[in-house]
Amino acid sequence: MPGLQIQTTALDPINEAGGMTHGLFAQLPLGDTLVLCLPIFLVGVSVGSFLNVCIARWPLALSVVSPRSRCPRCERPIASRENIPLVSWLMLRGKCAGCALPISVQYPLVELLVGLAWVAAYLAFGVSFEALRVALFATVLFGIAITDAKHYLIPDGFTVSGLIMVLLCATVNLFLGETSHFAPLWPAVLGACVGAERSLLTIVMGAFVGSVTFLLFVAPIAKVRARRRGEAFAFPEVPFGVFLAPAALLTLLWGDALIAWYLLRTFPS
Ligand SMILES: [Zn+2]
Repeated sequence: MPGLQIQTTALDPINEAGGMTHGLFAQLPLGDTLVLCLPIFLVGVSVGSFLNVCIARWPLALSVVSPRSRCPRCERPIASRENIPLVSWLMLRGKCAGCALPISVQYPLVELLVGLAWVAAYLAFGVSFEALRVALFATVLFGIAITDAKHYLIPDGFTVSGLIMVLLCATVNLFLGETSHFAPLWPAVLGACVGAERSLLTIVMGAFVGSVTFLLFVAPIAKVRARRRGEAFAFPEVPFGVFLAPAALLTLLWGDALIAWYLLRTFPS
């Protein structure tokens, strides 16, 4: 029954860019597609939970493996049942079970958003290696954006693991032979992870959106606050990673189309 086939074109940047097979996805009826959303969401929230550990520990140069997480105030070790993504924060009502120290809403929010990102990657790319690559890439970029916003730094953990991930995925895809938004292995090894034009596009887009946001919104707010407190105004530092990360993802998915559009506008012939 063709009516049960899921319509993929609305969410499908690849087909617009020029054709790619969808693995199993094209044949899956809508019901089967939706059934897989829940387990993929659960994997995503678990990855998000680990991402929270990376965001908390890498800026302090701490291991993400050991020791166990503890409450920073009462040092109570966090039990496994208090470590269930999304659920535990809601059950604890956002407070430490020992001393009622508030637990940041960042934890469930990151878990939720990574879970949704993984489902979105699956809905856009189906059951494919490409979906996994896009989901992992988005997760690392998300971690970079949050850490940069909080600490004004991008820990080596993210850049090194991101680079290893890109190279590993490119190697695996050499054998799978899937059409991909990512660069093939050798260009990736040469450091042009998403190609020279696309790197430039990421930087231009990230810098532009970052500058506009800070000039129009963040700086004026900081100025008003400084005046209220009677302090001298200093232009706030710009965590460019916050803007470069989404720019990198947009570039990966739609960069070629955007560059083609720009070139056509600039050099009409
Ligand atoms: Zn506590």
